[in-house]
Amino acid sequence: MAQKCTDPVVGDILATWRYDISGLAPDMRVAYEEHLAECPRCAGKQRLHRTIDVTLVLLASLSAVAFLGAFGIVRHYKPSHAFYLELAGLAGFAFSAFMWLAVLLATPAPLSRWLFPVYGEVPPQAGWGCPRGAATV
Ligand SMILES: [Zn+2]
Repeated sequence: MAQKCTDPVVGDILATWRYDISGLAPDMRVAYEEHLAECPRCAGKQRLHRTIDVTLVLLASLSAVAFLGAFGIVRHYKPSHAFYLELAGLAGFAFSAFMWLAVLLATPAPLSRWLFPVYGEVPPQAGWGCPRGAATV
């Protein structure tokens, strides 16, 4: 049986953000953190989304390593049509690396916060998203 959200309005807002509140200013985050603490449904959905994010990063990493390994094997054994196979290996590696970067930039996975701290905590004095000078008013 599916659990019901304790506050559907807040739950719907969190759902549109994929249960990611890491980009919010700390004072705006309080209500959502409280909801995630008291609502098992939303907390479970948040865990599910972060698990998906981490899984995507791991899959992209494994894919990049596999394509790079394939490129190395083709380069070492030099089979017929080696040039096209090497090209396919490099293209696969480039695509995997691009996907890895895209997933890290688009998700609040723990690794992305470590690699790209600008997407994590935004200090309130930074004034990001506000017109110039509005943060100091
Ligand atoms: Zn909820």
